[in-house]
Amino acid sequence: MKFYSTKNNTAAYSLRDAVLKGLPDDKGLFMPASIPVLPAAFLERIHGSNLVEIALEVTSAFLKDDIQQDQIHRIVSEAINFEAPLVTLNERFSVLELFHGPTLAFKDFGARFMARLISHLIRDSKQKITILVATSGDTGSAVANGFYGVEGIDVVILYPSGMVSRLQEQQLTTLNGNITALEVQGTFDDCQRMVKEAFMDPDLRAGRNLTSANSINISRLIPQSFYYFHAYAQLDGSRPVVFSVPSGNFGNLTAGILAKRMGLPVKKFVASTNVNSIVPDYLKSGIFQPAPSVQTISNAMDVGNPSNFERMLHLYRRSADEMRKDISGYSFTDPQTREMMKKVYRDSGYILDPHGAVGVLGMEKYMSEYGNDAAGIVLETAHPAKFKEVVEDVLEIKIDLPEPLAAAAAGTKNAVLMKNDFTELKSFLM
Ligand SMILES: *Cc1c(COP(=O)(O)O)cnc(C)c1O
Repeated sequence: MKFYSTKNNTAAYSLRDAVLKGLPDDKGLFMPASIPVLPAAFLERIHGSNLVEIALEVTSAFLKDDIQQDQIHRIVSEAINFEAPLVTLNERFSVLELFHGPTLAFKDFGARFMARLISHLIRDSKQKITILVATSGDTGSAVANGFYGVEGIDVVILYPSGMVSRLQEQQLTTLNGNITALEVQGTFDDCQRMVKEAFMDPDLRAGRNLTSANSINISRLIPQSFYYFHAYAQLDGSRPVVFSVPSGNFGNLTAGILAKRMGLPVKKFVASTNVNSIVPDYLKSGIFQPAPSVQTISNAMDVGNPSNFERMLHLYRRSADEMRKDISGYSFTDPQTREMMKKVYRDSGYILDPHGAVGVLGMEKYMSEYGNDAAGIVLETAHPAKFKEVVEDVLEIKIDLPEPLAAAAAGTKNAVLMKNDFTELKSFLM
């Protein structure tokens, strides 16, 4: 499989280049040269398949020319060693729980797969690699966990000071070893900008083997398409499917579009955001206008310049009308999010995290506009305990910490404080 930049369709990159470089030189993003369509027979028997079988089929379709089947099997089965159950909330929609991995958010899918793929790609070389990653909360811990203790790899995480939940911060800053956490005095957008500048910087490029682990890395997108197929497999297939995706950087939704292009029958995607409504605004106006990010209780979606939007534009040939055929978008405030958490808890006893609640809001809004003849699936992107303070406050209950979170909570924070300034990051890395 060759990869090319969204900004230049001629230069082809190998899998190794695309994954290890993270970003092409021209500020575009890597895309596969073609999106493989899965065999019809696979979709027909999918209802009996489990998550790993589905993941193998999807991964082989992309990587079979680059990686031997037994290695693909190892990468997939080690990375995806947890479940993603579909839980029915009512007759209209269900919730796809993507938080059963070790760091309790869907980021484990991408990060664990990427870690094993990179280890495979560099296994014969002596070069040391530095993974640089900006996080709005959940990516950092998933990446740190995925690469923890891996020989030849250092991980440097940038997170916005005071803007991630306390438990998220504990998960980022207590591992140590080959993991370094940088506490940036700024927003997530600052962190993301500093990472991008690092990749463009000639001294750093020459001096350190930098790789990005953000969802701009193509190797995180491929595994995120697994669970769209897996969700569909858990339904009976009698109704068309609508996915509501709580979104920030739009990697998750882009992976859904990939799944659709691979052949998954999806009627519509709902782009559900908090007040950082850049993409819903684009779907209304046809104009993409990044803005400074606003802090909300669904902090992992506080993104003012969604980096995967470039891929979405590319996939819809830069046409808002084309995109509207597949995607509806809605944004919601924190008070609306709290109300929905309460309503769902009252009606069904189910505890949503704030991100999942934004997803449910999007699904409800979509169904109020387009009817509810479809089977709705809301992606529940994180375990509610990751947002313990908010959830306990809103629902007036006490929730227990699952074991991995309790361990992180008990650790000692170790982070390097840094201004939101690229030159500081550069001297740190040099
Ligand atoms: C990262 C994250 C999101 C947003 O996903 P994107 O791929 O950036 O759109 C939503 N919810 C949670 C809990 C997350 O960690």
